[in-house]
Amino acid sequence: MTDIAIIGGGPAGLAAGLYAVRGGASVRLLEEMFTGGQIVKTHCIENYPGISDGPDGYGLAARFEEHAAKAGVNVEYVGVASLSLTDEKKEITLTSGETFEAKAVILCMGASPRALGIPGERELLSHGISYCATCDGAFYRGKTATVIGGGDTAISDAIYLSKLCQKVYVVHRRDSLRASAVLANAALKTENIEFVWNSVPEAFLGDGKLNAIRLRSTVTNEVTDLMTEGAFVAVGIVPKTELVEGQIKLAPNGSIETNERMETSVKGVFAAGDIRNTPLRQVVTACADGAIAATYAIEAVRV
Ligand code: NAP
Repeated sequence: MTDIAIIGGGPAGLAAGLYAVRGGASVRLLEEMFTGGQIVKTHCIENYPGISDGPDGYGLAARFEEHAAKAGVNVEYVGVASLSLTDEKKEITLTSGETFEAKAVILCMGASPRALGIPGERELLSHGISYCATCDGAFYRGKTATVIGGGDTAISDAIYLSKLCQKVYVVHRRDSLRASAVLANAALKTENIEFVWNSVPEAFLGDGKLNAIRLRSTVTNEVTDLMTEGAFVAVGIVPKTELVEGQIKLAPNGSIETNERMETSVKGVFAAGDIRNTPLRQVVTACADGAIAATYAIEAVRV
């Protein structure tokens, strides 16, 4: 039987793998797409201690994977179809049809971008609407793009797009930013970024291709159409908990509840990174979560 199954190959999963293997556990690390998780959508990571050259997310993910591989972690590129998690037994069924048991499981599935849920969003997806500036920004070179949101993702996307686009609007529902000061100050100083404060999108407009966003002012209730060729939605993230819903205690915000050892409500099941209820979602905290989860997962399998 495998000692520890790790689900997800983002920073939390790769750090957990590194610590688990170095701790002497047998590990299966399962990743459905590519390693790195959300960081592969990040064009520059400047706040991971010790790496001041600001690598892009792909670069940092590759370094994480290489390090884990050197320690003996073999990432298996396969999806998890279902999980059956109880205090006594942890069963993992893969999309390949294989089912196996592990003594402990570390859930590192991360989170995906939240949709606004407004008219036109689904219809114009990939026809002007995107959730990833690093992936799709180049399509708007020399054009006008709009970022929706005021957090770290929105503001770093706006800065990235400002280098490609002629003009970047940032539409935010309040009049101050949630993003960290260093990002906020850089964006506020960028000439071709214009902030549209106190405004919420009501609809994406366009026939087969986005050409405007209908906005409503939260102050005056006035409705205006902002002409734009691209819209990047960055209004937060949703933890990817589909596989464990009904099996594990979730916080009211939908993320997984853990204690300081990353233990969930099910014995032998741990959660790490953006999927768990945590006050800070950064690469450094995801890695730290993974290290803590692996440390106590090893303890659990040795009991
Ligand atoms: P976030 O911090 O939750 O910010 C979401 C933003 O979208 C907020 O400004 C919020 O407005 C706005 N928003 C939410 N729902 C909305 C709606 N329905 N309509 C309009 N606006 C809406 O999400 P995030 O920026 O994706 O970041 C997620 C986590 O990753 C955070 O912990 C962040 O610190 C971290 N992260 C860090 C970095 C970095 O350190 N470089 C980069 C990316 C992400 P309000 O402010 O009014 O709530």
